Amino acid sequence: MALYHSPLYNDALAQLEMASTTMKADPNIIERLKYPKRAIQVSIPVRLDDGTVKTFEGYRVQHNMTLGPGKGGIRFHPHVDLSETTALAMLMTFKCALVGLPLGGAKGGVKVDPNELSRQELQALTRRYAMEIGPFVGPDKDIPAPDIGTDRQTMAWFMDTYSQIHGYASHGVVTGKPISVGGSLGREEATGRGVAYCIQFAYEKMNKRLDKSTTVAIHGFGKVGIPAAEDLVAQGATIVAVSDYSGGLYCEAGLDIKKIATFVRERHLMKDYQQEGVEHISNEELLELDVDVLVPAAIDSVVTKENCEKVRAKMIAEGANGPLTKEAVAYLTDKNVFIIPDILCNAGGVVVSYFEWVQGLAHFFWDHDQINKTLHSILKKSFDEVVYKADAFKTDMKSAALIAALSKLEAAMKLRGLFPG
Ligand code: NAD
Repeated sequence: MALYHSPLYNDALAQLEMASTTMKADPNIIERLKYPKRAIQVSIPVRLDDGTVKTFEGYRVQHNMTLGPGKGGIRFHPHVDLSETTALAMLMTFKCALVGLPLGGAKGGVKVDPNELSRQELQALTRRYAMEIGPFVGPDKDIPAPDIGTDRQTMAWFMDTYSQIHGYASHGVVTGKPISVGGSLGREEATGRGVAYCIQFAYEKMNKRLDKSTTVAIHGFGKVGIPAAEDLVAQGATIVAVSDYSGGLYCEAGLDIKKIATFVRERHLMKDYQQEGVEHISNEELLELDVDVLVPAAIDSVVTKENCEKVRAKMIAEGANGPLTKEAVAYLTDKNVFIIPDILCNAGGVVVSYFEWVQGLAHFFWDHDQINKTLHSILKKSFDEVVYKADAFKTDMKSAALIAALSKLEAAMKLRGLFPG
């Protein structure tokens, strides 16, 4: 079956099995969570700038909607397929449950390299994709957001297409929109901010503080990696390395994050960055640096059984979804590396997406202070809950996060029952 071929899906299933055994979850509930509720595959024909038509493959997977409408990003990347999208939708189910949102798990994507399309072609692709999955999304059904290769402009096109079809401006259909069309303050930096908060919580748990001597390496310098780096610098840490898909930069004394972020936002690649005292390193070298904190914030499965023995970081904050394979998690946990699990570490994005959805439905908008305070308090509560479950079940943070999520899902699924009975 097409579902089973991706390592991410198999890892998600293995983690689900492990956590459910530890917590002695109801096997009938786990059986239901192994499969997506609904998986939609669409064809997206686009007229390219040269007049020819090219058809792209798109998906929207709704994994579980017991707690509320589906929520999850849309990824534009050449590796998108049904299996990966399903695994990511499953992670969204667990993430929303863990942080206590009234939302289910979903994910979407188009198999495309967005760097190879013009702006007009990307707009056409986004609008046709929005139209094709349109019957299955909506403020009460499933609410997409940005992910790898998509951004607030993509969300504005999506929102406009849905609104044109329905004949009114729908603020609640997507999150991650620009502020001028109903976006929320703080959404752009929310995921990275949440990563930085979680690292701070982990340091507090060890009765330590982040300071100049705390070294951090960030793999992937995009919508998650950049704000995480900016907030960690504001907290006093030293970012010694960052990377994008073209390669990485290293400076023992600390990189100028503001300057590199400006360079990257101007659509330059790291391989072309030049500054005295800054060395160019490979992505593999970055992952193996002897640092206090490693933040994998690019793609899944970057620390695997092949390279986990070379990882020297003392703490790993999973900014990306599934950056560590299950073998890497087992090996590093055994070596006492403190892992902040993805469904907790990068949940800041979906939390502020939830605020954006609520604001859109209420047509009333919050200020920055309220957003940040509420985000901080939700993530702190969730972090403490995961630490509590890890102690209670004598297990690692990855399993503990899943146990915390599964406990809430199990209770809700039992109360709602199995239709038709
Ligand atoms: P992005 O496209 O904005 O940035 C991705 C970064 O990773 C870029 O710097 C890119 O060059 C780099 N990259 C891509 N492939 C790479 C490779 N093979 N090796 C090294 N670097 C590579 O994407 P993003 O939104 O920052 O998402 C990053 C990760 O975080 C994904 O796993 C995504 O699912 C997850 N995530 C994102 C959000 C969000 O709000 N954007 C929320 C939760 C989780």
